[in-house]
Amino acid sequence: MFFKDILGHTEIKDQLTQSVKDGHVGHALMFLGPEGSGALPMAIAFSGYIFCENPTDEDRCGVCTSCVQMNAWSHPDLHFSFPVVKQKKSETADKHAKNFLGLLKEDPYMTLKSWELAMGEEKKKSIISAEESQEIIRSLSLKSFKGGHKIMIVWRADKMNISAANKLLKTLEEPTQKTIVILVAVSPEDFLPTIVSRTQKVNCGKLKDSDIAHGLENQYQIDPISAKKYAHISDGNFYLARMLATHKEQPTDYLDIFTRWMRACVTSKMPDMLAVCEKIGTYTKDQQQYFLEYCLQFLHQSIVYVHLGEGAARFDDEALDFARKFAPYMEKADIEGFEKIFSDGHYMVERNINPQLLFLKMSQDMMKLFKAKS
Ligand SMILES: [Zn+2]
Repeated sequence: MFFKDILGHTEIKDQLTQSVKDGHVGHALMFLGPEGSGALPMAIAFSGYIFCENPTDEDRCGVCTSCVQMNAWSHPDLHFSFPVVKQKKSETADKHAKNFLGLLKEDPYMTLKSWELAMGEEKKKSIISAEESQEIIRSLSLKSFKGGHKIMIVWRADKMNISAANKLLKTLEEPTQKTIVILVAVSPEDFLPTIVSRTQKVNCGKLKDSDIAHGLENQYQIDPISAKKYAHISDGNFYLARMLATHKEQPTDYLDIFTRWMRACVTSKMPDMLAVCEKIGTYTKDQQQYFLEYCLQFLHQSIVYVHLGEGAARFDDEALDFARKFAPYMEKADIEGFEKIFSDGHYMVERNINPQLLFLKMSQDMMKLFKAKS
């Protein structure tokens, strides 16, 4: 992972490389950014830049011993910690390291959900426990292999429980020499104030639509018009944009099916509903899950539409047409109820439940929500 591999965030890259050149790298950093924004790849590229023996102004050299180790994802002084679903109390992230690195190499923009799925643990919440904090402290107390810096990237550090966070406080305050801890998280609000105050913030923020479109075109050969469309819908989340754009070998457009599905639920027209469920039944398991992600995103944007107006919502022209008609139904809708239907659906798809039956059950649940509202 090089800085050049990371979409957008030019000012952040400049700020980070400058801090290394000036010798002003903090020992406790917090990289913030919403899911799919690239805070994790940024932390990795930054670590590589710090390790590099011969960096340029903009990036690591790629050929020194440290860079060769970074290229192979095997730098001995770069450590990762991350949330896991534990089978045993004593278990730490170490047990899942191979799986984690495998997913990371494939997809540096991975989300917590995609990681939980990779662990086969979508239903249980993953956490960073006190035992994991202890492990972080232990690995940072060891001497660095190469005599330079030791860096610990704690991905989704916001998933630390209170005792884990308390254990880590001292390390953040009085780190051992040449030690850098990078906490990667979505928002500082998820931390104890004592943790937030001990770290230097690097705010990656949402990705711009143009950066996402650029990434889709260059890395995934998506045509410019579609790239723009997916960038817009995904609202700064490259993971989602890529997922929608690269799984487009759909027999039918998601929007078309979603529109027909919602119409059938609002009007309680059983034959239409059955037709939609039959159509979804022909999707592969992956396609069903991407479709549900799409539905959830549409729902969220509909809420934006209702509360902040048409200009604030992220719909393309085709979707906007339906969003206008759909908005009145979302005005006082039970959002949590809808979210639960979609996320439970996601889980059931993972468990190979018959899709036609599953989507029919979801339709009935949604019908109830629409009825309750009217
Ligand atoms: Zn190098």
